[in-house]
Amino acid sequence: MYEIIEKMMPGSKKIELFARNNNLREGWLSVGNQLGENYQQWKNILTCDLCDNLISVGIKRYKSKKKANFDICEVCFNNSVKSKVNSNEKLKEHSEVDFFEFVNNIDEDILHHYFSCNNCNSEPIWGNRFHCLECDNFDLCEACFDKELASENSVHIKSHCFSNIEVMNLNKVDSSSCQWNGCA
Ligand SMILES: [Zn+2]
Ligand SMILES: [Zn+2]
Ligand SMILES: [Zn+2]
Repeated sequence: MYEIIEKMMPGSKKIELFARNNNLREGWLSVGNQLGENYQQWKNILTCDLCDNLISVGIKRYKSKKKANFDICEVCFNNSVKSKVNSNEKLKEHSEVDFFEFVNNIDEDILHHYFSCNNCNSEPIWGNRFHCLECDNFDLCEACFDKELASENSVHIKSHCFSNIEVMNLNKVDSSSCQWNGCA
């Protein structure tokens, strides 16, 4: 049913009334007095893979373009990557250009209306959007981006350059050029 509704009204706002934990769905506003405690922990909370501190709103997040689910905080990025003191074993083969930068200053769910994930087909894309700079219309949600990065067979994201988009900016076309050495 959800899929039918999403296909009929792509990009529209959708609400689930009397929602429970088992029918929470990306892109839907879920309202109900039987939402349980899981809901509160449901939001994606990230910690820095170097210092273990919470990367809370207001702290820039740096996400690896090479290693799935590898995120570091602003302080560690400045101290270890930017300063080129890559003493940490986890940072090997990583330089500044191997990270996406997230400003991370919005404390609410972000929906990328009119964009669907080319892997899991969820629309709108919820959270951060990863946009291929070389294909006409190829976007991934963050979960799929990491899944692809971890996969041995992923040709696409390992050979093409991606940009990260946190917030929709309708005035701006996705035309940022590739800054990444890993991209041929
Ligand atoms: Zn850190
Ligand atoms: Zn996806
Ligand atoms: Zn591509």
